[in-house]
Amino acid sequence: MNILSNMDNYTNANRQRIRNLVARVNALDHSCRRITDDKSMTSFNVQGSFVRASKEREAFMMKTEEFRRRLRNGESIESILPEALAVVREATRRTLNMYPYDTQIEAAIAMIGNPYKGTNSSGEKETYHEKIIAEMKTGEGKTLVQILIAYLNALVATKDEDPSKWSNVHVMTSNDALAKRDATNNRKVFYLLGLSCDFVPSRRSVKGATLQERAIYKHRKKQAYTSDIVYATASTIAFDYLDDNTVVEVRDRNITRPLGFAVVDEADDILIDQATSPLKISGNPVGLDSNYESYLDQREKDKRAYYKWATEFLYGKEGVRRKGLTYKVYDQAFANRKETFKEEYAYIMDTGEIVLSNRIVREIGVGVEDEAEYNAKYLALLDCIKARHAFLADREYKVQVDGDKAQIILIDQNVGRKKYQSKYVDGMQEAIEAKEEYLEQDGPSAQKRYHIEYTEEKSVRATCTYPDFLSIYPMGVSGMTGTSDDDEFRQLYGMETYQVETRKKNIRIDEEDLLFATKKEKYDAIVKEIIDCHRIGRPVLIGTSSVEESLVISSLLRDNGITHNLLNADNEEEENHIIETAGLFGSVTVATNMAGRGTDIKLGPGVRELGGLYVIGTSRNKSSRIDLQLRGRAARQGDPGSTRYYSSLEDDLVREYFRGDILEALIASRDTGKPIKSKKCIKLANRCQEIKESKDKESRIVTEKFNKSFIRHRKIIYKERNEVLDSTTYEFMNMIKTVMSKYVNHLVDNYDVDEINAFISHIVNVNSCFDKNKNKFKDNLLNAMWTNFRGLFQTRSSEEINNYVKEVKKKFLNVMDVYWIEHIDVLNGLKLSCSLSQTDDPFKTFEYKANDIFFDELIPAMYNEMLTYAFNPGMKFGTYQINYPQNIIEERQVTL
Ligand code: ADP
Repeated sequence: MNILSNMDNYTNANRQRIRNLVARVNALDHSCRRITDDKSMTSFNVQGSFVRASKEREAFMMKTEEFRRRLRNGESIESILPEALAVVREATRRTLNMYPYDTQIEAAIAMIGNPYKGTNSSGEKETYHEKIIAEMKTGEGKTLVQILIAYLNALVATKDEDPSKWSNVHVMTSNDALAKRDATNNRKVFYLLGLSCDFVPSRRSVKGATLQERAIYKHRKKQAYTSDIVYATASTIAFDYLDDNTVVEVRDRNITRPLGFAVVDEADDILIDQATSPLKISGNPVGLDSNYESYLDQREKDKRAYYKWATEFLYGKEGVRRKGLTYKVYDQAFANRKETFKEEYAYIMDTGEIVLSNRIVREIGVGVEDEAEYNAKYLALLDCIKARHAFLADREYKVQVDGDKAQIILIDQNVGRKKYQSKYVDGMQEAIEAKEEYLEQDGPSAQKRYHIEYTEEKSVRATCTYPDFLSIYPMGVSGMTGTSDDDEFRQLYGMETYQVETRKKNIRIDEEDLLFATKKEKYDAIVKEIIDCHRIGRPVLIGTSSVEESLVISSLLRDNGITHNLLNADNEEEENHIIETAGLFGSVTVATNMAGRGTDIKLGPGVRELGGLYVIGTSRNKSSRIDLQLRGRAARQGDPGSTRYYSSLEDDLVREYFRGDILEALIASRDTGKPIKSKKCIKLANRCQEIKESKDKESRIVTEKFNKSFIRHRKIIYKERNEVLDSTTYEFMNMIKTVMSKYVNHLVDNYDVDEINAFISHIVNVNSCFDKNKNKFKDNLLNAMWTNFRGLFQTRSSEEINNYVKEVKKKFLNVMDVYWIEHIDVLNGLKLSCSLSQTDDPFKTFEYKANDIFFDELIPAMYNEMLTYAFNPGMKFGTYQINYPQNIIEERQVTL
């Protein structure tokens, strides 16, 4: 039997299991309808406190209590599932006047997943649930499914008798306005069931706010996070989480309950489209000494100098390399042939690979003093070459001029908006800024109208990607999406996809794509099509892949006197509202792809007869899944509707992968204004999308593989950090002892007495502790250290000790933060050099080296510094430098 039919068997069996459960939920319907609806008030006791509420609410709350108790007593979630779903279904009917369909119950059960036994980190057997993505077509009612799945998981999250142990359920919506809308509506259901529900407004809502407004916002947010069910966008929660791992006072934390379970709406967007863009919090650690800040400033200046050098080296400048470098841009076919090239460097377009000639490699080394400088120059040059060929003005970014200054603003490749708050990572920003400054100021055709303002480089204090953020939810994650890529979810995250069939047959008609030679011809054809539809009143939704494109279409429509809604507003609430009306008679809506995702489009009277909503895509997106997402807005819930995509040979996607000479020939031989008929040509255009898809997929897999070490290290650091932050005085003192013991073990296992002396002679007298027996030596060192340490407190009052703990805790947090920031940088550098080197398995090499650096260098050095402050609480932060023994420094230089 082959794998595929095995998988089919599994899927069928799973589907049958779920359908049986749906039948059991249905069978309980009758008894749930009989739950009292008596609205008269009563008082009753839940969890030791008195509640005044209606008799109806009492009955539902008692159900919730019963489920919690049963879970507490060891029943599994599967065992309470049919009853719990029947109860929440009834509660939904009574409060929202909507009765969840069988398909919605089915989706919720699927999202709980199949249980399996595993071993947790403490070695105990535990039941896990596989992570599941439910695929439900647009309009099938994902919002209600969220209620069902949130209820089931909230029962588990709050089953403990002690509320201080409760975690909660986070429901991640695709935009802020939806979080607010859904929390406000669905709160009624949860309230009836005795659970609390709230939403967290996004950070954007306090942009430019006063201090007082910010304080209120912060307070509001902390409150929201204490609810049993919390609605917010993934970005809000992820940033709050990152923030929480940089605070130095417990009261500054945003997320007030431990994380429990996450439900992600539009999971394809979060887990696939945005998977490789890291979220970052920049800025220096809180409460740093000025010494350290000036060190960071200097580091920034040095970095800029390398990029300036590399840019001038690349393009040429008197005194650097007068003529610049010769180069050739190749396609993949060249790379496959492994031919040699005569130029000084080659850039391979499809893969972004750069090959430097030996001469250039040697030239980089001229006048260089050490390995570190060589590496910095080498990497800067590679970045600058990339900036020259792969990052183009008006495509990837805009040069925004303001008087005699200009800034580089990134363009969001998904929606086409300018991303004011973002910058490129890993040196790309520096490379682009150096390039634009050179072209404007120093190049042969420089115009000297402005200088580029460098984006202030702040250290990255905390960073993660969505996938690795989601991996920290202890109860797991499930997602929902209208369109999924099963293989990719499985490969990247081990998440299975469950397809929920639509309730009514889908009768959407996807017309064949039309391909034009030029963009202009394409736009003209689109506008003509819109006019034809508009004449009879059939609503049209035009999805564009960039803001620029939506403006072009909008102005063409205006020229033709067609009233329409143009959506590129930053106001999501308004955006959702306009999208909602896109199905009304005569309505024409132009929007970027992402606009109003998650908003339901209802057809107006008379529209059905005209064929329903007509969706036009103005160019193919980078994946067919995103195309499908847009198509899915038509013909929801069995409505009629149709869709069509337009492309042109001038579209970026086509340009990127189509050979230039073929393109020119096709364009020259066409029938102007008419779509291109050639089947072969259309096929090639489709192929461009496939190439792009598989390239993106590959890069996500690469990111995911490299991320493993980041995730592992981050977990360790954050765990220790939070332990320090949460510790009582007694616990903190114990922690210091643990650090001593770990550090002593590391030292004795790895170094001889002289070296150990160099590390810790300022803390303890090493020689007097020495013993040939390693264990004895360790014991002696630890005892001596601990005795010295206790000696510090012999005559102190408890108030003094408390003050000491406060001071040293802060130092510990600072030390951890600074080391972590450096580590992020080091790993990013290492990642680059591993992916450039020709080793067989760059991921293994990376993991191996990253672990070496983390466990053998970072952690011990961090402990050393922490202990130094523990012994010298008055010492200024940033003044301590580890006294590395001479031979270790040499060793380091060799391994660099
Ligand atoms: P999706 O997010 O899957 O596109 P929505 O949750 O926006 O779908 O729901 C689509 C529409 O169907 C909404 O107007 C919603 O109120 C309605 N709806 C969903 N479930 C039900 C139900 N069980 N009974 C009645 N109407 C429902």
